[in-house]
Amino acid sequence: MMMTRAGAVLNVNLAAISANYQYLCKQAPTTKVAAVVKSNAYGLGAEEIATQLRSDKCDTFFVAHLEEGIKLRKALGRSPEIFILNGIPNNYADEFLANHLTPVINSLSDLELWRALAKQSGNSLTAALQFDTGMSRLGLSAKDIQKINAVPSLIAGINVGLTMSHLACAGDPSNPANEQQRQAFDALCKTMPKTKRSLANSSGIFLSGEFHYDIARPGAALYGINPTGDSSNPMKPVVQLQARILEIRDAAVGTQVGYDYLYKASKPRRLATLSIGYADGWHRQWTSGAMYQGIYLPVVGRISMDSMVVDITDVPEAQLSRNMFVDLINTEQTLDKIADTQHTIGYEVLTSIGERVERRYSNK
Ligand SMILES: *Cc1c(COP(=O)(O)O)cnc(C)c1O
Repeated sequence: MMMTRAGAVLNVNLAAISANYQYLCKQAPTTKVAAVVKSNAYGLGAEEIATQLRSDKCDTFFVAHLEEGIKLRKALGRSPEIFILNGIPNNYADEFLANHLTPVINSLSDLELWRALAKQSGNSLTAALQFDTGMSRLGLSAKDIQKINAVPSLIAGINVGLTMSHLACAGDPSNPANEQQRQAFDALCKTMPKTKRSLANSSGIFLSGEFHYDIARPGAALYGINPTGDSSNPMKPVVQLQARILEIRDAAVGTQVGYDYLYKASKPRRLATLSIGYADGWHRQWTSGAMYQGIYLPVVGRISMDSMVVDITDVPEAQLSRNMFVDLINTEQTLDKIADTQHTIGYEVLTSIGERVERRYSNK
């Protein structure tokens, strides 16, 4: 029986993350492979995962928010480079400097903030420039870049250490948008020929060598999410999500379960109440149940905030008891499978897992 007071546990296999990192390095052998650890490393724990990847010689990290970068810097110490994808919040440019964080400059106004700080500090300051090559989300437009090239003072005091862009459709290798974005990226990079370049996320690494450039930026694949669209998943599974059985009851015909009495037993059933609910990221409208030793345990009734009820009738009665844990995500009921069933993506499944869920790390 697992010793924990938590209602649910997310087991994170650090050795599998290392193996996935090394696999990506092999996939892109002439490229530096960075790690994207935004949103608490997709819910798995940014400090633990980044520390592990540091020991695998990863020296470049990306997070989305300044706050995430400040925390990560404290955890990792001075040396690795940490990029902040979402740019510079107004009035907070100096915190980048104080914490040795490198902003990804996404707009002319970001550029202005960084330029002003460079002037004020008397030093030239490093930044990455993101180009919008089609996604229309973040990044300098072709017009912005023309402006910068025409008016070099716009970039005075800024050392552009990296130019980057992000692929919108890399999960679908057959989508012509990938090659269109790559060509747009090449064209924009020509104006800064000496600068390092980065285009590929996890899926981008699997498109072709032409997408790799100097630095790749995988997140999802490190955490076991399939980066290859519809092909079979080459990554090792990293997570197992388990929930505690709070109660087991026999339900006679006619027994009703949960809010709104959504479920009514039409046959005698054995039911188990699990200590996980929508507040923990197992969303209220979801239909995915639990697993126990290869037996699927369907959800009955509505998923509550802190609990959900599953049907354990198919498990021999002596095998399950209170305080045992059953699986919600494992190597059979995979992240990708759940995502498919719930019409979402593994990214959302992972990043939804709530703070009450205990993260446990193994290294086997
Ligand atoms: C999140 C993100 C990544 C990582 O993407 P994955 O698909 O998880 O590999 C890379 N680059 C940018 C700009 C991102 O926002």
